[in-house]
Amino acid sequence: MKSLSVRESHPKQLLTKASGFLTGYSHTLNPYVGCSFACSYCYVRQMPVQLFQEEEWGDWVTIKRDIAQLLEKEIRRAKKHGPVTIFMSSSTDPYQPIEHREQVTRSLLEAMVREQPDFLFIQTRGALVTRDMDLLKRLGNRVRVSMTIETDSDDIRKQFAPQAPPIKGRIKALQRLKEGGIPTQATIAPLLPSSKAFPEQLADVVDRVCIDDFFMGDGSGGKRTEKLKMSAIYTELGLEKWYERDTIWKVKRRFLNYFSEDQLFISKEGFLP
Ligand code: SF4
Repeated sequence: MKSLSVRESHPKQLLTKASGFLTGYSHTLNPYVGCSFACSYCYVRQMPVQLFQEEEWGDWVTIKRDIAQLLEKEIRRAKKHGPVTIFMSSSTDPYQPIEHREQVTRSLLEAMVREQPDFLFIQTRGALVTRDMDLLKRLGNRVRVSMTIETDSDDIRKQFAPQAPPIKGRIKALQRLKEGGIPTQATIAPLLPSSKAFPEQLADVVDRVCIDDFFMGDGSGGKRTEKLKMSAIYTELGLEKWYERDTIWKVKRRFLNYFSEDQLFISKEGFLP
């Protein structure tokens, strides 16, 4: 693995008005720029933030410095204009490895405990989120932790996201969060090939499940995913059947054996506040 190039920034603004897929939220919040999980299917690879970089996606991270007080101030100001609902994060992972040391996300949670938003949705692949359970508990029902679990097969995960954390650790983290009374969601997005036993493995560890695929979830009807050449990986693995538009409904039927209809969400509806 190449070494990670780490930079710093001192942003003057933190909360970004939510748009597109996330219009159900008032704001998005990204503690870092860049993401060392480097998933092959990551759409940020095609955004200006990466297109104008010399280094490859996954090889660099910018740490946003001294932002906790700024966030507190921005939430206070935004509340004057309506409910503040925050999606963290839309273009980075708030619990990527560097967070162990830097604790930027933790500092933002501390700020949000002091100045509470109406709702905070945390989207991550990092089991490190359990470190912050003390703070998450203080947000009560104002928070939901959504852990991406694209598949139950670590062999498949390694084909698409070799630098992302192993699946077992993510499921374990969800279990700990649920036991701690923190609202949880497993987000199967993007939907990757999985076994029939997948739903059973999640049955007792989450309140709800969201399933999203490359066609509904990439914000372009599957075109962005095509550019990232995801179908080639399916072909190489001989799993083309999993790269079809109706696969999501077959997988939903499997999950209906373990979850009720109102615990299952498809695509955008699973990300709403
Ligand atoms: S964890 Fe999210 S932001 Fe990071 S590379 Fe993967 S898809 Fe992109």
